[in-house]
Amino acid sequence: MKAYFTRAYTLCASHRLHTEALTTAENRATFGKCNNPYGHGHNYRIEVTVGGQVEPNTGMVINMETLDKVVGEQIIQRFDHMNLNLDPLFAHRVSTTENLCIVAFDLLAAALTPAILEKVRIEETENNFFEYSGAR
Ligand SMILES: [Zn+2]
Repeated sequence: MKAYFTRAYTLCASHRLHTEALTTAENRATFGKCNNPYGHGHNYRIEVTVGGQVEPNTGMVINMETLDKVVGEQIIQRFDHMNLNLDPLFAHRVSTTENLCIVAFDLLAAALTPAILEKVRIEETENNFFEYSGAR
């Protein structure tokens, strides 16, 4: 009997899509205006889904306050109003929202045990959504 709980958070951060693996011209061709040297920002909406057994005594999969504490410590405090490119986790990977999903998933999965993190979904703009469900 598995149930799921999803909670949404807001994260404001800047970034620049750029990689040392490509030349200046290739970076510009690949990332377009997102390669602008001055960067740009997003108001990301991050949805965190936790799954598991419903605890009989509480009727919950996970306590919302526990989830808020973990997301706050692992994600919001670390990345909110920051430049993603300057975080060590993005030193060797492009700060795309695909990679932000992976980084957020890995940080949260380690901190949420024994609850099971099922998925991280991030809305970058009103038209762009990204999801990661772990290496499976
Ligand atoms: Zn962007």
